[in-house]
Amino acid sequence: MRIACIGGGPAGLYFAILMKARDPAHEVTVFERNRPGVTYGWGVVFWDDLVEQLQASDPATASEIGASSLRWNGQLLAVEGKPPVHMGGHGYGIGRQRLLDILVERATGLGVRVEFDSEIEDAARLSDADLIVACDGVNSRLRELRREQFQTDVVAGGNKYIWLGTSRVFGAFTFAFVHTDAGWIWCHAYGFDASTSTFIAECSPETWTGLGFDRLGEAETLRLLEQIFERHLEGNPLKSKARAQGGTAWLNFRTVTNEKWHTDNIVLMGDTAHTTHFTIGSGTRLALEDAIALAARLQKETPLPTALERYENKRRSALLRTQSDARLSSRWFESVPRYIDLDPPEVFALLRERRSPLLPRVPPRTYYRLYRTTQRNAALRKLRRWVAPAVKSLYS
Ligand SMILES: Cc1cc2nc3c(=O)[nH]c(=O)nc-3n(C[C@H](O)[C@H](O)[C@H](O)COP(=O)(O)OP(=O)(O)OC[C@H]3O[C@@H](n4cnc5c(N)ncnc54)[C@H](O)[C@@H]3O)c2cc1C
Repeated sequence: MRIACIGGGPAGLYFAILMKARDPAHEVTVFERNRPGVTYGWGVVFWDDLVEQLQASDPATASEIGASSLRWNGQLLAVEGKPPVHMGGHGYGIGRQRLLDILVERATGLGVRVEFDSEIEDAARLSDADLIVACDGVNSRLRELRREQFQTDVVAGGNKYIWLGTSRVFGAFTFAFVHTDAGWIWCHAYGFDASTSTFIAECSPETWTGLGFDRLGEAETLRLLEQIFERHLEGNPLKSKARAQGGTAWLNFRTVTNEKWHTDNIVLMGDTAHTTHFTIGSGTRLALEDAIALAARLQKETPLPTALERYENKRRSALLRTQSDARLSSRWFESVPRYIDLDPPEVFALLRERRSPLLPRVPPRTYYRLYRTTQRNAALRKLRRWVAPAVKSLYS
């Protein structure tokens, strides 16, 4: 089979690896518009469930990813003027660039052609491909050219965010909320290697214009954020990737959905097919899971349309829960004033409950009391686990 993947992100590269590893006779080419070593963003988080899936699909990649990740321990909530709150849990961070380097090395080692500096404007150039995988990300050009066929919907979130890095290595996943004259602004920060952390700043559009970010250039933006988060950065600078290198600027998160995921021999994968708000840290995992599912279907099914249809059905239903979680999570952060004046342990509990469809519908204190009662009672906890999926599907 001749396969062309448009976009050398996690989705395209991992799919190429799986196809080539299963059958070296496949001719697989990944077209990536950037040069090697250039990408957007900083580190991404993931959890043990992803490690297990990668281990089962391609152990060589899984162990490289494991060895290049940094484990963060616990979560920390710091609301200005109040004592910080710590909670348990752990996860991992890995630099996006490191992840891509691992995938490129494995792919080329297997015989995949990875063509950098290769921007694909349309599928017409790829007429000899049996399968074209559109994995060119959230702003996919291939998808936009067929917007009506895919019935694409893109919804922009209300808040502004900027994805930065810093040399302060946060050992715990940290949410720090700072009050300014223009309102609340906060960061999501976690270490992803021995010398770098992801630092995402987020605020409402009113706070953003109130602080003057709409009028500041990149350097001034970084200086102002360094001042605002001085205590949390402990004197370390913030770093931005210049626009020319794949771009970092203030954005509104774009939630992408498609009614159809394939047409003719073109199929959507990863962020091209769906995005989920960054506050649930799942986009990379979902992109890799798409790759696993599509490769598995292509191995099992012929003809091609049947394989693509089954891939689409499987992934669409698998995504429903995460998409609902993502919508609710972004809504929580768009409603920060609703929660932030509660006591920090209450804020933290409700932050961790942000995927609940009931939370936006019940006064926060009442929800917190219900939550505490349930937590203290084993039978209620069990009942909740049983009822929760039904409640979720009712309100999603
Ligand atoms: C602020 C933020 C934080 C995030 N944090 C996390 C996290 O913690 N955990 C997590 O799992 N996910 C996270 N994500 C989501 C994650 O980054 C994406 O879901 C993931 O990168 C999707 O992978 P992909 O391969 O589908 O797309 P991408 O990684 O976007 O790759 C697409 C590739 O296609 C290339 N391309 C684009 N157009 C063309 C073209 N015309 N021709 C050729 N190449 C092209 C691009 O250069 C890019 O390399 C975060 C996202 C954001 C915005």
